[in-house]
Amino acid sequence: MAAIRRHCEDFIRTRLAPANPPNDGKQTPMRGHPVFIAQHACACCCRDCLAKWWKVPRGVAIPAERQQGIVEFLMAWIERENAL
Ligand SMILES: [Zn+2]
Repeated sequence: MAAIRRHCEDFIRTRLAPANPPNDGKQTPMRGHPVFIAQHACACCCRDCLAKWWKVPRGVAIPAERQQGIVEFLMAWIERENAL
């Protein structure tokens, strides 16, 4: 789980947190990593979804504290899925 959490932090920081993430809307594959699956399930896959469902403002970088909150949420989802 520690490795997954590290990947999760990396994905959020590099693919979602920048003010204008590269490839926004297509940066999260539908499969290939447990974190990707969780991101789609939790509407944390792109800035559109984050804006629509989580009221994260567009066009500005996501602060570290908020990134951490997203990571915690995704990890909780992944842990719950794995416990089923
Ligand atoms: Zn999305």
